[in-house]
This record gives sequence, structure tokens and C-alpha cells, in this order.
Amino acid sequence: MKQTLSLIAILAAYPALAEETRQLDAHEHGVGALNIAVDGTTLAMEFHAPGADIVGFEHAANSQEDRAAVDAAVATLAAPLDLFVLPAGAECSVTQASAELESEEDHEDHAADEDHEDHEDHEEHAEHDEHEEHADEAGHTEFHAEYTLNCANPEALTEITFAYFDTFENARELEVQVITASGAQAFEVERDAPVLDLRSQF
Ligand SMILES: [Zn+2]
Repeated sequence: MKQTLSLIAILAAYPALAEETRQLDAHEHGVGALNIAVDGTTLAMEFHAPGADIVGFEHAANSQEDRAAVDAAVATLAAPLDLFVLPAGAECSVTQASAELESEEDHEDHAADEDHEDHEDHEEHAEHDEHEEHADEAGHTEFHAEYTLNCANPEALTEITFAYFDTFENARELEVQVITASGAQAFEVERDAPVLDLRSQF
């Protein structure tokens, strides 16, 4: 486990993972990312993708229908082996899985807060404006998930089949980074060729 964590720390030094800290409004709709670290029988994965890819919208989930769509997506993302299908022979099982929706509000401070001083007359207006701003804002969201799996027979991890693209019809591409004891390698997995060959990685 300790060794896996250090592999993940190494992952952070590679450019693809640095993208995770980018502003959400810089993300490209249709393109998500999956980082995978394999160490012994432990496989750690970190996933993120635009809300547009997963639920088809990025506005705040205010309606009951939208909230239900987000809840369903979070539940689906919490079952990684249905999305990122591993060879049965690898005997992988999920030991930890978490998924959540992140919105821009989680990442940005509200500059508007600075304008609240000394403007008695405007206070009501300011609040009103703030509300309007929120309503008009076409903010971006991303789904984020982290997984830990145990694979009894990691030598059989020869490929990953991305059923992900069948599940999420707006997703076009995943930028996949795989790090193993033999090094790190980046791949682009696209909807029309959703199988990643990992034989060169082990
Ligand atoms: Zn977006």
C-alpha cells in the first residue's frame, strides 16, 4: 500500500495529472481522464470527466430530474469494473470506490464578497445581482472518482475494455495514463476503439 501511494505521488509529477488542477472552464467536453497505478496486486485509479460527458449538462442540478441524473451517475461511477472492464483472469475486486460531482463553486472564491463594504444603499441590489449572476452563469462541473482494487493475478491485466463509452454516450475520449513498476505511459482511448492493450506495460 505504501509503495502504491508513492507511485501515485510519482504520477503527480507527470503533465497529464497536472491537468487535474486546471480550471474547470478549461476542460474539453467529451474528453475525460483516467490515471492508473499498478503495484503488485494493488491497482489505484483516479478518474475525472466533464459533467457534460456524464449527465449531459453542467448547470446546477436544481430540478428533481437533474438531481436524479446526478445521483444515478455517481452511483454508476462508484462501480468501476462495469465501466473499465478488466480481464476476468486478473481476479480484480474493488476495495474502495468514491465518486462525486464537483462544481466551479468548490474551486473559486467569490470576488463579489469584497464589494459588500460601505454601500448601504446597494446592499439589497448587491444581493440581488449576485443571485442573477448565479442564475446566468453557465458554470462547468466535473465528476471525479477514486478507486482502489485488489487484483489477485495482476499478470493477467493485459487490457482494459472501456464499457464507459457505452454507459456515457456523450463521452468521446479518455486520456489514460498507466504507471507500473516499469514506468509511465500515456494513451488516448477513443469511443470507436475502446480497448486499451496493456501487454507492453507488464
Ligand atoms: Zn464544461
